[in-house]
Amino acid sequence: MNNCLFCKISAKKIPANIIYEDSEAVAFHDINPQAPVHILIIPKKHISTSLDITEGDNVLIGHLFRVAADIAKERGIAERGFRLIMNTNAEAGQTVFHIHLHLLGGRQMHWPPG
Ligand code: AMP
Ligand code: ZN
Repeated sequence: MNNCLFCKISAKKIPANIIYEDSEAVAFHDINPQAPVHILIIPKKHISTSLDITEGDNVLIGHLFRVAADIAKERGIAERGFRLIMNTNAEAGQTVFHIHLHLLGGRQMHWPPG
């Protein structure tokens, strides 16, 4: 996708604080962190929203969750707890239309979210 911010980050055309990368996924620090740990995990493949995930993406989506869990363990927040969020469309507050898992942790989370 030509004009997608997260495609550009994944292609290294825009800098980001990347903490993990493999052939399918990239993880980097959120530019506007909402918790002591706030990392975004994205597929390298452009998928606009969770509504656009197809059956062929099943393994890829599982991989994103596994990468997120590994990062949570590595950052020492796995046992304390953390949150994985994928906002979808306007009312959920999605602003970047390339799917991303928010990994949030390092502080007490509240429910329901705002
Ligand atoms: P969402 O609102 O769920 O679409 O999340 C988009 C997230 O991307 C927000 O938390 C932003 O702070 C974050 N973000 C936007 N631009 C960048 C960037 N250049 N590098 C890192 N994170 C970004
Ligand atoms: Zn994209």
